[in-house]
Amino acid sequence: MIKINKNLKPKKKVIVIGGGIIGLATACRLVQDSFHVTLIDKNKSNNRASIATAGIIGGSSVIPWANDHLWKKIPSMLLSENGPLKVTYPLPANFLSFIYKSRKVGSNLEINKSSKGLAALGLKGWTEWQSLLKPFARLKKFFTQRGCLLYYGDKDEYLNEIKNNNLRRKHGMNIQHLKTKELFLKIPKTCDKNPLATLILKAGHLNNPSKFQDSLINELKKKGLKKISASATGFEMKHNKINNVITTKGKIKCDYAIICSGTGGKDLAKKLGSKISMIPAWGTSIIFKNPKIKINQPILIEKKGFAIVPNGNDLRVAGLVQVGGKTNIRNLKFENILLNQMKKIFGSFKYKGISYATGARPLTPDSLPIIGQSPNYKNVFFNFGHGHWGMTHAPVCATIVSNLICKRRNKINIKPYDASRFN
Ligand SMILES: Cc1cc2nc3c(=O)[nH]c(=O)nc-3n(C[C@H](O)[C@H](O)[C@H](O)COP(=O)(O)OP(=O)(O)OC[C@H]3O[C@@H](n4cnc5c(N)ncnc54)[C@H](O)[C@@H]3O)c2cc1C
Repeated sequence: MIKINKNLKPKKKVIVIGGGIIGLATACRLVQDSFHVTLIDKNKSNNRASIATAGIIGGSSVIPWANDHLWKKIPSMLLSENGPLKVTYPLPANFLSFIYKSRKVGSNLEINKSSKGLAALGLKGWTEWQSLLKPFARLKKFFTQRGCLLYYGDKDEYLNEIKNNNLRRKHGMNIQHLKTKELFLKIPKTCDKNPLATLILKAGHLNNPSKFQDSLINELKKKGLKKISASATGFEMKHNKINNVITTKGKIKCDYAIICSGTGGKDLAKKLGSKISMIPAWGTSIIFKNPKIKINQPILIEKKGFAIVPNGNDLRVAGLVQVGGKTNIRNLKFENILLNQMKKIFGSFKYKGISYATGARPLTPDSLPIIGQSPNYKNVFFNFGHGHWGMTHAPVCATIVSNLICKRRNKINIKPYDASRFN
């Protein structure tokens, strides 16, 4: 006779909308918290931020993108052919109000708040990844912790970064300055005569973000995760709850829904009555297959807006920002800039092939994500808008959301990430 365990409650159904790193990490935490999880994604992985990413965990992750320092540099960035920033038409919706808000929160008076909010998530990224992946030991091979180098081509670049480095120290980053000789013990010689660097000691990186995400999804499927390739287009609501998520493949019933859809989060939040200030900030990566230069730890070249990261036997070079335009598959201009910049730093080097990806960072004016319960629907939670640091934030925010659903206390104060801060 089959024994029925009367204490066994049916598993609650959660729909996670978005299959980038934020959706995957959230699904991973929820599966471990015994929810029945369905992941919905439009399935266009070729323009996911999580595929184009550099994959550094906790690099410079306490510096908000908008700061008084940056505004002064924007004209020269835009004029420079190989510059890290391009603004093209059509501009994103509500771009001017986005810039107005960014100037306000990025001012010297306000910036500390955003830095504090970034530090609370960014400094825990590495340890939270280790904790999230505990049941999936074989996935840990994708993570390496050898620190991250902030590279300066000369002394002026180094001096320009002092303010940011002070901010890093203030918010708890363990950093160490390297002289040229010390730097060249860590990386191959560059074409700059006297480069300097700052080493962020506790940073790590993902060796192959794309393969890692494929492997994680396979592991989660073994634990019961259901994946549906569809676009979420709306919700069916009753009073202050939603009953169904409406998708291009029909309605799906759920107890909870979590919006983890990157740049798509803004439109879905709007359907739930929340107005979010966010724009897509496109970035590009190129992977050099088997290059002749070997680099063992990530190098961030902030002035030029990109990073060089070990990718197994390959090298991933990722970064730059394009606002506006219709780029969503390949960005040839950015691919050329990255190639030119690599040549400028390391001279010509051989490699066996090259591949490309483009993706849009979901960028908010204060660099902080939107995390928490929807102000209008109590069984919907937000987890999107992670901008430049989603690979780092993902496991931390996954735990925050799962704690909220399970009514467990969060150690992190989540007020700074509230959706209603844009009202
Ligand atoms: C060039 C570059 C370099 C970066 N470097 C770093 C770094 O070194 N370290 C770091 O921490 N971060 C880095 N980032 C940022 C980080 O990659 C992003 O913050 C992160 O990938 C965002 O993840 P996401 O899951 O929110 O978005 P995405 O990866 O874009 O995923 C969102 C998913 O939602 C799906 N979706 C959207 N709308 C819907 C809908 N209506 N229905 C169903 N599905 C939907 C999309 O199809 C997509 O798959 C970088 C980003 C870029 C572009």
